[in-house]
Amino acid sequence: MSETVIVAEIFGQNVFNDAVMRERLPKSVYKKLRKTIVEGTELDPSIADSVAQAMKEWAVERGATHYTHWFQPLTGVTAEKHDSFISAPDSTGKVMLEFSGKELVKGEPDASSFPSGGLRATFEARGYTAWDCTSPAFLKEDAAGVTLCIPTAFCSYTGEALDKKTPLLRSMQALDQQALRILRLFGNTTSKKVTPSVGPEQEYFLVDKAKYLQRKDLIYTGRTLFGAMPPKGQEMDDHYFGIIRERVGSFMREVNKELWKLGVSAKTQHNEVAPAQHEIAPIYAEANIATDHNQMVMETLKRVAERHGMICLLHEKPFAGVNGSGKHNNWSITTDDGINMLNPGATPHENIQFLLVLACILKAVDVHADLLRQSAADVGNDHRLGANEAPPAIISIFVGEQLEDVIDQLCSTGEATHSKQGGKLMTGVATLPDLDKDATDRNRTSPFAFTGNKFEFRMVGSSDSISSPNVVLNTIVAEAFKEAADELEKAEDFDLAVHDMIKEMLAAHKRIIFNGNGYSDAWVEEAEKRGLPNIKSMVDAIPALVTDKAVKLFEEFGVFTRAELESRAEIEYETYAKAINIEARTMIDMASKQIIPAVIKYTTQLAKSISAVKGACPDADVSVQNELLTESSDLLSETKVALASLTELDQKACQMEEGREQAVYYHEVVVPAMEALRAPVDKLEMIVDKELWPMPSYGDLIFEV
Ligand code: ADP
Ligand code: MG
Repeated sequence: MSETVIVAEIFGQNVFNDAVMRERLPKSVYKKLRKTIVEGTELDPSIADSVAQAMKEWAVERGATHYTHWFQPLTGVTAEKHDSFISAPDSTGKVMLEFSGKELVKGEPDASSFPSGGLRATFEARGYTAWDCTSPAFLKEDAAGVTLCIPTAFCSYTGEALDKKTPLLRSMQALDQQALRILRLFGNTTSKKVTPSVGPEQEYFLVDKAKYLQRKDLIYTGRTLFGAMPPKGQEMDDHYFGIIRERVGSFMREVNKELWKLGVSAKTQHNEVAPAQHEIAPIYAEANIATDHNQMVMETLKRVAERHGMICLLHEKPFAGVNGSGKHNNWSITTDDGINMLNPGATPHENIQFLLVLACILKAVDVHADLLRQSAADVGNDHRLGANEAPPAIISIFVGEQLEDVIDQLCSTGEATHSKQGGKLMTGVATLPDLDKDATDRNRTSPFAFTGNKFEFRMVGSSDSISSPNVVLNTIVAEAFKEAADELEKAEDFDLAVHDMIKEMLAAHKRIIFNGNGYSDAWVEEAEKRGLPNIKSMVDAIPALVTDKAVKLFEEFGVFTRAELESRAEIEYETYAKAINIEARTMIDMASKQIIPAVIKYTTQLAKSISAVKGACPDADVSVQNELLTESSDLLSETKVALASLTELDQKACQMEEGREQAVYYHEVVVPAMEALRAPVDKLEMIVDKELWPMPSYGDLIFEV
């Protein structure tokens, strides 16, 4: 047995959290900092030195030698540049350990190598990182030692956001302001701040490292570009919630321990639907912290997996034919005094504030479905969305039976008089307790589902940051709140006005509600009739970022400028093109250097054995061998042709100028050429001798972890 983990003792031990700050900071400094963190007021720059001093002492006591501003550039992963605490040696050769307020508050990484989408020419390399005191500093322990990590925002010299955090913080501010207006309208005078709460459920795959290293596709692209289905996939449903294997169990145990030390409240873990697929979910937190924590979760999963001789794959679709991985972004709106604005209560038909909030969310999602869809677009997610394992690419909302009924009452008669209740679940067994049922069943196929007191946005890809979806959710709902508050604040008869407003909004945006099976073809048709957009790919989703509607929305709430949106769109096109180019080149490499030689070896051996048999016994029946030889030779020439075509098309794509046209070309021309190469190769894998096949099969990868 391994050592005992005492959760309460280790939880948050590597975090410069509130308890540590209260203990170590001078009282006046603590109070000022706390006010900024809790109330969102401006940070008083005069406290920086004192906080830096306390932070350094705390970190050094715990073995830290370095510090880093930890930020989230538009590469999708986190960035850090470590500096040690040491000063220049004095005349006696001794060094001091230093960390000033200035170093805490501001960093200046050379920004020229991070994506900026044309916001910054490479010769204008200046970028700044700015301390985000609302997300606590933490210590990272790894092979590099112990490093003090300071969460920061990353902006250009001219103040444009170059990262995922800045817009998120801006959108939280917008939601805070507008949500408070709604609360005040309903007589709430006590809540001071409203924040979006987010709980991201993270799916991932684990594969054996030694096998991984034999697959160039996994190494370079994070997914398999070739691979025939094993005899067994996920059809038996025996992996979901199955018993966790020992090796995986010890990995999960260590992941939890590491995360708890970092103050990440890892809560739920289980096997997912596909073999070798798992999930981890923390307890929800403020959107900004949840986003930082999710980055730490992804990093920790990867790091700990290697210690256990495994590799954690966060790609959205590492294996064709079995489910891919997503990230469910659970989202609600909470006040500083603990009110969840998405809590309908037992009788939602009487809860006018909730109905208004709900109507605003329906409106926001209906009006900005394209933006929400875009926020979940990444290269890997193109393989999942709309592929009957994840929500379709059409945005709709599941509200459940109870709320649908209330909405129907309001829309048909203008009054809602009752709310359906869940009742009791009768098990029919005397010794089992009868359970109170929820008022509504779940729906697994909806991209945006109301689940009791929160919405679950299920489209997000497993490798993606959850920043973008939350930026969009916060901002579009802030807009709907603003439009409602603008009108209601002026109303002479508030009760009447709010009642009419809810009815009108529900009637106008009801088309976004869909409670049925989102995986069915009938829904695709129905959605089209309703005029809901069905945006099938990342390349098709990107333009949503720069429509007039989007620019107006984001500029109004100070979340993005037009230039920032344009730069983000540009980065997305480049990212797409680069990722597909790497995949295409990897396929070309594997096909020419590994697969074709293996098939030639096989056909040569087969041909030799046919002649040997014939030589020994001229009457022997070698028709089966001949058939195999013909079949594999035909597939081999098909492979060769597809390889030549992919090579040519990829070269053409490479020569195009970066931007939308190039990305569209990759999507519409290069991707089909990749599929055309994969098809004969997967068939060959089923024919060629396993010993000759140059890489581990799907079966080896997903069933033998
Ligand atoms: P599921 O049954 O949907 O798989 P999980 O337990 O795996 O649920 O994950 C649900 C996630 O939703 C958790 O991260 C949980 O903390 C989070 N969550 C719960 N309540 C809220 C809320 N009010 N706001 C935001 N997130 C929430
Ligand atoms: Mg879950």
